[in-house]
Amino acid sequence: MSLGIRPPGFEARFCEACGGRLQRRSVLGHARLICPHCGYVMYQNLRVGASVLVDMGQDAVLLTRRSINPGFGHWVLPGGYAERGETVADAARRETREETGLSVALEGVLDVYAYRPSAVAVVVYLARPAGGTLLSESDECFEIRAFVESDIPWDQIAFGSTRDALRAYFARRVAP
Ligand SMILES: [Zn+2]
Repeated sequence: MSLGIRPPGFEARFCEACGGRLQRRSVLGHARLICPHCGYVMYQNLRVGASVLVDMGQDAVLLTRRSINPGFGHWVLPGGYAERGETVADAARRETREETGLSVALEGVLDVYAYRPSAVAVVVYLARPAGGTLLSESDECFEIRAFVESDIPWDQIAFGSTRDALRAYFARRVAP
């Protein structure tokens, strides 16, 4: 599953409990989507994504080039949404394996990225390869390859979280 970003103005119109049409009302001072039929409050929480910055050695990191929208043709860190029943770390390992063929050992969290008004918060993990075979393409990717910093296609990065995570990662590597 990809890290798709809903259009900024997107909000649900129908109740996920009973299918009734939602109304926007103030609840305890906050604008909420309420179902007038069953009373359900539809909170618009952030969705959690997991991305992985895989250290491929010799100062190179893995990026995949997306063959789906959003971000078609642009480069992104391996990753996707965490599903119920798995941890965010499970999602990070699963998505990396599905998209790149690699099993990875996670080595901590670089940072968490969220941007208003996007509905997504992305946890970016640091990792090293721990098995598997690197694919050259996969279901959602035209191309999968390792980049050193000077080769990163900065004007063809799909998402702000990938761009900001790469900047933070390379800045950290040269710090004393
Ligand atoms: Zn309802």
